[in-house]
Amino acid sequence: MREPIGDIIGNIWSSTDISNNLNYICDTFGPRPAGSESADLAGDYIKNKLDEYGLDTHKHQFEHAYWEKEKAEFYLDNNKLHAIPFHFSKSEELTGDCFILKTPSEKSFEKANFQGKILLVTPTKQRHGGMSRKEMFRRAVEGGAIGFIQMSSIMGGVLETGSIGNDFTEIPAFSCSFENGRLIERLQNKGKGKISLSIQGKKVKKSSYNIIGDIKGSSDNMVISGAHYDTWDIGPGAFDNGTGVSTVLALAEVYSKSTVKDKFDDTLRFIFFSGEELGILGSEAYTKDYIDTDRTPKVSLMCNYDCTNIKGGVRGAFTSNSMSMHKSIVNFVESRGFDIKMSLRPPHGTDAIHFSNRKIPTFGLAQFTAPSYMHTAFDTPDKIDISELKNSTAIAGAILADLLITGKMKNV
Ligand SMILES: [Zn+2]
Repeated sequence: MREPIGDIIGNIWSSTDISNNLNYICDTFGPRPAGSESADLAGDYIKNKLDEYGLDTHKHQFEHAYWEKEKAEFYLDNNKLHAIPFHFSKSEELTGDCFILKTPSEKSFEKANFQGKILLVTPTKQRHGGMSRKEMFRRAVEGGAIGFIQMSSIMGGVLETGSIGNDFTEIPAFSCSFENGRLIERLQNKGKGKISLSIQGKKVKKSSYNIIGDIKGSSDNMVISGAHYDTWDIGPGAFDNGTGVSTVLALAEVYSKSTVKDKFDDTLRFIFFSGEELGILGSEAYTKDYIDTDRTPKVSLMCNYDCTNIKGGVRGAFTSNSMSMHKSIVNFVESRGFDIKMSLRPPHGTDAIHFSNRKIPTFGLAQFTAPSYMHTAFDTPDKIDISELKNSTAIAGAILADLLITGKMKNV
């Protein structure tokens, strides 16, 4: 018989479900924004898979607001402009000149005077310490801008969507392509480049579901593996987060069959969150309903899988809230020769936040330096390297097995 960790790695490599699940979820359900029919269908598909693997499953329902677009038209000097509003943009009709802030930073915002103008910003690499869209938007409002545009970081007419707030914003906000951002800049230099826009949207109430599957253990300790399955409304979300979903489904599959279960007594819970893109809502509802009450055993570890693989990316992982766990993973990864960059930092912009904020040790697998099409219409399975996705899943499965066997995450 193979040693249990080798058994986990081997079974992940031989599973065909990883690529099948990724392709099926993206190609069959397409974009699956929280509260939509396609999100519900994707949730049912995931639940059926967990049932098939023999897990104890249930759905956790939560309510949330959703912004429904009714009208969005953009003009640049009377020519139609290819653009999309950000979720929860203020409904408004307006015409104005742009102020272009090329390298958004605290300093450049302080120096700039865009009062009464539409502020056009270029994107920053937030994962490398750049300013987030929400922060830029906040500064635009505080500085008296009448509108906010973010141009895409990707060339080729690609539009990037994203979050700007969880309720109607103070000024209209939208996204334009890289090329149109540059065009606006050239026209402005000639005293042209007036923007006219008309945005109309309404706030509606939606129900969404977190999908939960358990492999029951005998102790009152629980270890969670989670990934969000919702996407934005414009793309099928292969990288963000079809990769994480297929990783967690694969972990549920192999752990349900593995002899490694004899080596620990924790309950393994697999959670597929909805509402992540709209503001990390599914995991917020989950932690309020399950962690802040006595409905489940003590959670000793939360593993988060969000954007786990893209062609050309660098495999990375973060841990928070447990130095002993961090050191243990670093030693394990070195002893096995796994190709993964470990860092000790709190999670940001993903479901692990709500667990980390409750002092629960977290482990998160993600690509740190991925040039990706996330939050665009082109986040499709062809951008994913399946063998690298399997490798990441195998590494994650092995790290999890080692932690469960040694119990290192419990010695915070
Ligand atoms: Zn994501």
